[in-house]
Amino acid sequence: MSTLDSKVSRVLVVDHNEAMCRRAVEFLNRAGFAAESVLDAKNALKYIESNAPDVVLLDVDMPITDGYKACEQIRMLEQGVRLPILMLTKRDDAAAVDMAFESGATDFATKPVNWPLLPHRLNNMLRTSEILEDLDRSHSSLDVAQRIASLGSWEYNMSTGALIWSDNLFRLLGLEPQSQASTLSLFMKYVAEEDRSKLFNWLVSDHTKPESMLKQRLFTEDGEERHVTVRIRNDFDSDGVIVRKWGVVHDVTEQYQAEKKIHMLAYYDSLTRLPNRVLFCERLARDIAMGRKEPKDIAVLFLDLDNFKRVNDSLGHAYGDLLLQEVGERLQACANEVNKAYGLEEGPCTVARMGGDEFTVLLTGLKERSEVIKFAEDVTESLSDVYELDENECHTSTSIGISHFPDHGNSVDELLKTADVAMYGAKKRGKGCYQTYSLELDANSIRRYRMEELLRSAIESDELVLHYQPQLNLETGKLESVEALVRWNNDELGFVSPGDFIPLAEDTGLIVGIGEWVLSTACKQAVEWINAGVPLKRIAVNISVLEFIRPDFLTLVDNTVSDSGLDPAMLELEITESVLVDDTFSAVETLHSLKQLGYELSIDDFGTGFSSLSQLKHFPIDRLKIDQSFVQGMLSNVHDSAIVRAVLSMANSMNLRVIAEGVETREQLEFLYDCNCDEAQGYYLSRPIPGAAIAEMFAEFNQAEIKRSGTGD
Ligand code: C2E
Ligand code: CA
Ligand code: CA
Repeated sequence: MSTLDSKVSRVLVVDHNEAMCRRAVEFLNRAGFAAESVLDAKNALKYIESNAPDVVLLDVDMPITDGYKACEQIRMLEQGVRLPILMLTKRDDAAAVDMAFESGATDFATKPVNWPLLPHRLNNMLRTSEILEDLDRSHSSLDVAQRIASLGSWEYNMSTGALIWSDNLFRLLGLEPQSQASTLSLFMKYVAEEDRSKLFNWLVSDHTKPESMLKQRLFTEDGEERHVTVRIRNDFDSDGVIVRKWGVVHDVTEQYQAEKKIHMLAYYDSLTRLPNRVLFCERLARDIAMGRKEPKDIAVLFLDLDNFKRVNDSLGHAYGDLLLQEVGERLQACANEVNKAYGLEEGPCTVARMGGDEFTVLLTGLKERSEVIKFAEDVTESLSDVYELDENECHTSTSIGISHFPDHGNSVDELLKTADVAMYGAKKRGKGCYQTYSLELDANSIRRYRMEELLRSAIESDELVLHYQPQLNLETGKLESVEALVRWNNDELGFVSPGDFIPLAEDTGLIVGIGEWVLSTACKQAVEWINAGVPLKRIAVNISVLEFIRPDFLTLVDNTVSDSGLDPAMLELEITESVLVDDTFSAVETLHSLKQLGYELSIDDFGTGFSSLSQLKHFPIDRLKIDQSFVQGMLSNVHDSAIVRAVLSMANSMNLRVIAEGVETREQLEFLYDCNCDEAQGYYLSRPIPGAAIAEMFAEFNQAEIKRSGTGD
């Protein structure tokens, strides 16, 4: 078998009659084809596989494998699927023709062969085959294009109701292309139920718009949700009646999901999944706009957790996040109650997280203002329940500020600001409570904002100073120690008492920097005094809980003290009872470590917190500071004197020393002597004074004391 010239059409003649083969090949070659022949089906298949002819002339009457079978087998070959096959039969009855086509023949001709006509016949078949191939190519490139673009197309005949889909539309629905008859009802099966009637009406209506678009949700054969857009173009007849609709289905799921994600990122808080500041403000703005047209109550609640910083600093950010999530859930649960009661789709209540530990709630159109108060009470109660965070128990409370439209503000900013001011009012009243905005709160809050601003730069601007209040040892009658008390002197605000700015510093976290400064300044001062010969035995420094619970607290204290060169045994750290009662924090460990490093530890304001004396034995404490309120009341109030005596006797049995604070009179001091109190501190002995005055104060007092005891006074 020779290789055939590719320009001329190559014909394979299959006939078991050798003479016939020879004749056909000769004739066809003369007519401009390149013909070759084989004698049976087996050789025909082999030839087609290796030579891929352009057209086949196939005789039906062959022994072993007849033409019909041979034709079927050719169609199974890759090269044979579209190969034009002209079948030659002796019969031309309908049955024979049917059989020829059923076996896959392209055309048929009867024997004896009409030779002059044969070339025309073959050329015709070749041309048709070329056109079909072209069509096939464009069909498949269209299909590829549709696949790439996630498009499907269909064509709907208005008069017959017939619907034709493209292969890729089948795929979009999760079906094998053309695996079923494409019908309108089949398509509808995949359309989300709520979208069906709209699509149906749109399809069958005499829509006059030449083009339109619809958004739909589909569920594929596998139940996967897809988002699509359907575009329609109408074909009109000469009377302007729609005869056909062309449609394109575009799968936009990825785009839809990306948009949804962008929307989530833009409008929701990723930690709590609650609306964020942006969405909250948009809703509030919308409600205000509606409220201007049709008066209704709009309440804004501003919430701030009271000790979030403590949780975050002591347990770490991961726990802080857990706490915020739980708070968000509890808030949303309270909101759901209200929304359920009002039975609206988008209820009157929206909860949002503004950032940090700040949340807001919008209550629009409640029937009574008392419902807002009721809501605030519910939230306060719900949020104060114990939190179980990964096996850690933790408590928090929240302060809530409330403002109403239009009484307390006409805009989003105003309402948020007045609610914020009210929130600080609530904090000031004692935390864990709510407060509705009022004018007098404003003056306080403006001062507070300004104070915060100025406090931030107080250390760098050298505005902080320490004063020292001497402490008297009642056994020796000598001043032996001092308590360092911070003072803030600001040009604009004047002298600010620590009672005002320390709570602010705690709320804002500024206490950490201030505490560091106090500690280092006090230590250096103590070393200076000792070097100057002042008989100082101890210096006490106040430590705020927020400093104490920080993981780096131990290192910080130790570094500061060793930098100053002070003996740790001379430094006393004053902490309040709250450190001991809050079991969230491993206070015991820290206290033991401090003790091991040699520091003295005392409990400040003892008696005002919730610790009991029996609880104290778990802690390595050296000294109790009886709160000044008891000291000042002990001579007039039996209750106070009983407390002072009880503290002294129990402390004695537990080997704890006791110092009485706030001693203002000689009588108070004498009473303490009589009760065998160990130490005393108060205005009667000395007010807190600048460091420069301490040496003289110690010298004079201790001198006078010697004189006093010398004269037996
Ligand atoms: P505190 O630790 O209980 O300090 C004692 C307070 O009572 C001081 O007020 C002191 O001036 C005052 N005081 C002393 N003797 C008498 C008296 O006889 N009568 C009366 N009525 N008051 C007396 P100060 O200096 O205004 O400090 C107030 C609070 O601010 C302190 O209470 C302490 O809790 C806090 N504080 C002061 N300095 C610091 C500091 O450096 N760090 C921290 N974390 N807190 C500090
Ligand atoms: Ca103190
Ligand atoms: Ca105190």
